[in-house]
Amino acid sequence: MSSTTDLPAIAHYDVAVIGGGAAGLSAATALARSRRSVLVVDAGEPRNGPAEGAHNVLGQDGVPPLDLLAAGRKEAIGYGAEVRADTAVAARREGDAFEVDLEEGGTVRVRRLVLASGLVDELPDLPGVKEMWGRKVLHCPYCHGWEVRDQRVGVIGVSPMSVHQALLFRQLTADVTLFTHTMPELDADAAEQLAARQIRVVDARVEGIRDEGEKGVTVVLDGTPEVEQDAVVVAPRFHARADLYVQLGGTVTDHPFGEFIDSDPMGKTEIPGVWAAGNASDLSAMVMVASGAGVMAGAAVNADLIAEDVAAAVDARAGQ
Ligand SMILES: Cc1cc2nc3c(=O)[nH]c(=O)nc-3n(C[C@H](O)[C@H](O)[C@H](O)COP(=O)(O)OP(=O)(O)OC[C@H]3O[C@@H](n4cnc5c(N)ncnc54)[C@H](O)[C@@H]3O)c2cc1C
Repeated sequence: MSSTTDLPAIAHYDVAVIGGGAAGLSAATALARSRRSVLVVDAGEPRNGPAEGAHNVLGQDGVPPLDLLAAGRKEAIGYGAEVRADTAVAARREGDAFEVDLEEGGTVRVRRLVLASGLVDELPDLPGVKEMWGRKVLHCPYCHGWEVRDQRVGVIGVSPMSVHQALLFRQLTADVTLFTHTMPELDADAAEQLAARQIRVVDARVEGIRDEGEKGVTVVLDGTPEVEQDAVVVAPRFHARADLYVQLGGTVTDHPFGEFIDSDPMGKTEIPGVWAAGNASDLSAMVMVASGAGVMAGAAVNADLIAEDVAAAVDARAGQ
């Protein structure tokens, strides 16, 4: 579906959108429907790619994530957006424009830039976690909590946040175990809350997890017997993909869960001409929130271009 033709040495568009996930495709659709020329550059690794279905997506609950994006690409392209399967590797300001270099060759010159490049989930470095991520290793009760309702859920403790995760998943199942692993010692309040909700606490370090097929997951512990679970919950650290933003002179903002590109509610960043949307600027944005942020950023970029076009037209008229 995406374009495979070679780009000219420098290709001109009104806007380049970096990332073709929910945020980027929504921004591109809003821009293309405003008759802006827009190029989406997408490396094709949406964050929820490993998951079977995307939930809490109104009207399409459970849709396979890649199917949702394929439909979004088709819509954006239908309005005239171009989508390229490529990676943007460098960005710089050139006068009042931006230039973006693509990995497979060619440079794009644009008036505005939307960074919708998502984030990287930094997972605990334990055997089995990466392999089962998005299937039996979970993080978000709203994404896949319903799917493990009434099942055996083990939370691998990595921070005080793990207590909160255990309490969230306890809403979905009565069988929750918190493995303390590397989290700080539980304070009295946390211990009381866990006990009051009948959440088991196993004070042991996790050495890894093993996929047992239909039987679930085995949690391998340091010095204590293994524990059978149906699914395991972890709290990743969230790192916005911000390389291009930093190259342009931006600074990422720290957050207790990682770091992100700060922006106003419309996605405008501290760098004039650069917007951010989706997980790149909001670590907790789910699909619909990322999509909404993309639409807002697309609308804001269009309004900004209109202001510039009108000012130029007024100047031109005055000079006649
Ligand atoms: C396992 C898992 C399951 C989830 N399940 C759900 C769910 O059920 N429901 C829900 O609402 N949310 C779910 N989420 C959250 C969901 O993934 C995000 O809300 C959503 O992906 C955010 O969209 P985005 O467009 O910001 O980023 P992404 O979807 O991650 O898209 C970013 C895109 O940008 C591309 N990219 C990055 N850098 C570059 C570059 N330099 N050049 C070109 N392209 C680049 C990436 O390859 C990617 O395709 C889940 C998350 C995970 C991890």
